[in-house]
Amino acid sequence: MINICPLFSGSSGNSTYIEVNGTGILLDAGVSMKRIITALQRIGKSGSDLSALLITHEHIDHIQSLGAIARKFKIPVYATVNTWRTMYKSLGKIEKSQIKPVYEGQTETIGDLRFVAFSIPHDAAEPVGYTFSDGEKKLTVATDIGEMNDKVFLSLSGSDGILLEANHDIDMLLGGAYPYPLKKRIRGKYGHLSNDEAAATCARLVTLGTKTILLGHLSAENNSPEAALKTVSGSISDTGAQIGKDVYLDVILREQERELQTI
Ligand SMILES: [Zn+2]
Ligand SMILES: [Zn+2]
Repeated sequence: MINICPLFSGSSGNSTYIEVNGTGILLDAGVSMKRIITALQRIGKSGSDLSALLITHEHIDHIQSLGAIARKFKIPVYATVNTWRTMYKSLGKIEKSQIKPVYEGQTETIGDLRFVAFSIPHDAAEPVGYTFSDGEKKLTVATDIGEMNDKVFLSLSGSDGILLEANHDIDMLLGGAYPYPLKKRIRGKYGHLSNDEAAATCARLVTLGTKTILLGHLSAENNSPEAALKTVSGSISDTGAQIGKDVYLDVILREQERELQTI
């Protein structure tokens, strides 16, 4: 079984704790180390329980305390080669032995936890999502996605649990206060996934057997937890699946005291 606890989610910072048989990793470190450690303590974990840090891409809401955590806990940090190239100089000193490149489609193993990176369309150097496995269950995390393409969908499909981006409600975004270029970036192929796109994806995944759906990276300005849940639950219900019975659906708030959840 795979345990997951999203600690922070959204453009103000992302970090998720994932664990298989006592091997824990942190996926992204987009808020201060102090806040991450406090959030870990809340679920009965400490920094020394971390076996690795995995990074999706170099945007600051994913790497703010990467350097600090790497130095403090001396753990390996996994990121794609071009992500390393882009962020390396901004991180402060990191030991060479801690720098671990990940390659799309290549399985890495830490303890009983396996993970594979897959590329995602987003305006970063070489952004990826990750699929985690304990050999039996599959958990996929995909946020910061401009559009749902075949490659991302293929990685998500067959997952028992997913953490998927539901960034914005299109009407709220277009009618909102953001300047036009920013609206265009968010809507673009390399921006962020809308509630509608997340809903269509979730409906397809549910028919393929996905049982746990967590929606994350919600925009504070252009979305609401209610809007995201309503849109996604509507599409899932259209498949005939019952929310709460056949499928667990929840939205991850920006900063929320969540429990460790088993997939
Ligand atoms: Zn982000
Ligand atoms: Zn990003």
